Amino acid sequence: MQIHDLHFKQMISAEQIHERVQAIGAALTTQYKDKNPLFISILSGAFVFASDLMRAFDGHCEVGFVKLSSYKGTRSSGDVQTVMGLEKELNGRHLIIVEDIVDTGRTLHFFTNYLREQSPESICIVSLLSKPDALQFPIEIDYTGFEIPDKFVVGYGLDYNGLGRNLPDLLVLADV
Ligand code: 5GP
Repeated sequence: MQIHDLHFKQMISAEQIHERVQAIGAALTTQYKDKNPLFISILSGAFVFASDLMRAFDGHCEVGFVKLSSYKGTRSSGDVQTVMGLEKELNGRHLIIVEDIVDTGRTLHFFTNYLREQSPESICIVSLLSKPDALQFPIEIDYTGFEIPDKFVVGYGLDYNGLGRNLPDLLVLADV
């Protein structure tokens, strides 16, 4: 499939994603049932995953959204700024951070540090995808959907210059 100037091919099917999301949802249910966890979806890429994951959770829960922007231009600082904040009290809450993909780990490293300062009861990190070969920041992901090679992917919420978020499968950049 072509998106803008690039060609992509299927990597993970909608069925495989569905199975994995159900399994993670079941594990989270075991861990957090009766604890009213707060799912925190990182916008924009994680909104599709978060929507499926919280419906795979069998128990009461809440959801919040946060939009982060990372300034990758300034390599040394690697600062991350919260653009759209959480309008929720985090003190004493069980937080389940839902991310689409962990690449260098910069985004989640800084965001979890920020969250820790709000004194939550616990923090669990869930990422649909991770690229272990690209990781540069120390973060521990509690649940990973799929580990993938260090290649650019789109679909299931992830975009290439705005397009591709609505694709049900995950596609990877094709070597042409
Ligand atoms: P990190 O802070 O871990 O380096 O980057 C995480 C963010 O980079 C993800 O939330 C996502 O927005 C973006 N990203 C990293 N790798 C990919 C990729 O292969 N495809 C897309 N669409 N976005 C990616």
